[in-house]
Amino acid sequence: MDKFCIANWKMQLTIKESCQLAKELRERIDFFDQPKVVICPTATALSEVAQVIGNSSIKLGAQNMSWLERGSLTGEVSALTLQEVGAEYVILGHSERRNYLREDSMMIKDKLLLALRLGLRPVLCVGEKEEERLAGATQQVIVEQLESVWPAQQTDKIIVAYEPVWAIGTGQTVSLEQAEEVAALIKNNKGADLPVLYGGSVQPDNIGAFAQSDKLAGVLVGGASLQADSFVKIINAFI
Ligand code: PEP
Repeated sequence: MDKFCIANWKMQLTIKESCQLAKELRERIDFFDQPKVVICPTATALSEVAQVIGNSSIKLGAQNMSWLERGSLTGEVSALTLQEVGAEYVILGHSERRNYLREDSMMIKDKLLLALRLGLRPVLCVGEKEEERLAGATQQVIVEQLESVWPAQQTDKIIVAYEPVWAIGTGQTVSLEQAEEVAALIKNNKGADLPVLYGGSVQPDNIGAFAQSDKLAGVLVGGASLQADSFVKIINAFI
């Protein structure tokens, strides 16, 4: 099973800082026996970061894209231009976009379909809020989030990231057992070979169990991917 370490730099770095971090990662990441490393800088840094990583083993991803290929959508970013700058992956349905920017499943489904049609590999984020977890609705929420966007074709290109909303940026994580339980639920519904990642406050000191799990295909990392030291430690836990 391929394993992935995907860095979501969110809106935390300038273009200059993104390039500097990409350069450090390029210098420090071994080319053998490692998980697939994907870095997702802010959209305006993609082009320059692509130059920095060049033809190294590090791959480029975007944090979002529009649901239209072209159109009158002021401020949106087209998947066509993501491809043009060399992005191969795109994060879709991140909880910050669902919750702060009111992204709904119709938009996410259209984005997913477009990404697949253009050959970008979607990293679809799903996860329950704290109140949903406390109400015992985790499984129902995850299944609904999947069902409402799942396409009929090319599903083998999709990566799912299980990211409990209450664990993102809070220092709290689910236990390995809980993450594996949700991964099993996702695979039972959508296919045993589907790569399911865990995301939510992954750090060098808690990566061990997640990295070694044979039920998880890696991690999506926010805060701890913003420094080369911590992200390299996370990557090395897979080796
Ligand atoms: C994320 O937002 O995708 C994420 C996993 O963030 P953090 O690692 O900071 O919790």
